[in-house]
Amino acid sequence: ELSEKINTAGEMSRIARIGHDGVLSILMLSMYLALMLTMSPLLTLVCLILIIGLGLCLTWSIRKFKRLGIELAGSSIETSTVIVEFLNASRMLRIFGATRYANKIIRARRRLMIEVNRKALVLKATIAPTVEIFTVMVLATFLIVGYIVLDSATESIPSLFLFVLVLHRAMPQVQGLGLTLGSIAHVVGGLRVVGELMRRDDKEFLKTGGIKFDKVFSQIKLEDMTFYHSGESVPALSDIDIVLSRGKTLAVVGPSGAGKSTLADLILGLRQPGTGRVLVDGIDLSELNREHWLHMVGAVDQDVFLLNDSIANNIRFGLEGLPQEQVVDAAKLANAHDFISNLAEGYETKIGDRGIRLSGGQKQRIAIARALAKKPELLILDEATSALDSESERLIQQTLNRLKNSHMVLVIAHRLSTVMTADEVIVLDKGNIVERGEPEKLRTSGGAFSLLWKTQVEANK
Ligand code: ADP
Ligand code: MG
Repeated sequence: ELSEKINTAGEMSRIARIGHDGVLSILMLSMYLALMLTMSPLLTLVCLILIIGLGLCLTWSIRKFKRLGIELAGSSIETSTVIVEFLNASRMLRIFGATRYANKIIRARRRLMIEVNRKALVLKATIAPTVEIFTVMVLATFLIVGYIVLDSATESIPSLFLFVLVLHRAMPQVQGLGLTLGSIAHVVGGLRVVGELMRRDDKEFLKTGGIKFDKVFSQIKLEDMTFYHSGESVPALSDIDIVLSRGKTLAVVGPSGAGKSTLADLILGLRQPGTGRVLVDGIDLSELNREHWLHMVGAVDQDVFLLNDSIANNIRFGLEGLPQEQVVDAAKLANAHDFISNLAEGYETKIGDRGIRLSGGQKQRIAIARALAKKPELLILDEATSALDSESERLIQQTLNRLKNSHMVLVIAHRLSTVMTADEVIVLDKGNIVERGEPEKLRTSGGAFSLLWKTQVEANK
């Protein structure tokens, strides 16, 4: 939808052309009118009445044109939405044998769009001939009437001819003006779309200040934080109090939908708490310069997204010009170096769209390398080891153990075995902290964590 809106915005440059044509027509038309007026005010008045009559007839088409333009803008957005969506989900379409279904939907949307477009084009095509036929009829009427009325006055006939000639030159400008009005009506739909996109009063903006750290920070504190997703009445997180310290690893566990990823977003500064604050060494996160802040944070998301580029460029993403050795170092830390070296083209291997040619675990390890390449002060891993086999996970665990003394680490995990080395575990459920403490103590305490442990770890033995 956004990409289509951006395209529409690009097309709006047509307005300059339309405006230019319109101004030109108006200027030319006034010149001709002035000329005609000096020749014969009466005939000019008759002409003006006729032209206004024509204009009224055209108003109907122009109004219809505007409606079609709005419809067209909407329907092209709908069409590209389904096309982009289905192209992104090509694998899913094949697995579900749904290519025919996708085809049908795309065709239907396209047909709708083409139909609206066709109507608009037909309407636009009628403007020129209508004006032309009208012109010929007016000119003929003038000549015939003039011929009959002025039969005796031979000297008037040349000036009548001259008048008709000027009128003949003026009519294309009337036609041009009609087309301009039509085009304006047509772009109104697009303008509306772009206007909605650019409106600021109906959108939420994240606050961002200008403070930059010149030292590394040592503590992140979440104070009485509550967060609602926009439009939701139930908080995704409520009364969260957490302290993350340098050299400590905090683990967050809990069922899906508990609010773990939302918590990570709030610490990243990608969302703003409804109430409460996120303090970084006592400074409110919203006062910090976001770009600067995000430069110090490495995050591995639940959904790994890799660009259609070389592995090396994916690892140095956001850090253009990072030397190859540092890319390799990050990959080694993330335990990705071995499998990358085994690829025919090594670090220069191009990843297919969305990393189609890599396994889930390999993609995750590249994403971890990407986060580590930034040499982040704070590392957030959101289910980052969920697609790894036990052996790779163990190696990542080693990496984390190496980092944990000098860094701040937040691990969100489904698998409880990965959180046993954390300094503190927080159990989230429905946005509330239901339990917190050292993992080993929680495991034996008989609370929520030990219950999770029983169902997950011991059941697998
Ligand atoms: P987790 O990562 O623990 O599985 P999330 O933090 O992703 O959970 O989601 C927490 C809750 O917030 C869920 O109930 C989810 O449905 C809801 N949620 C997540 N993202 C949005 C959103 N953009 N708009 C509205 N609700 C959301
Ligand atoms: Mg999540």
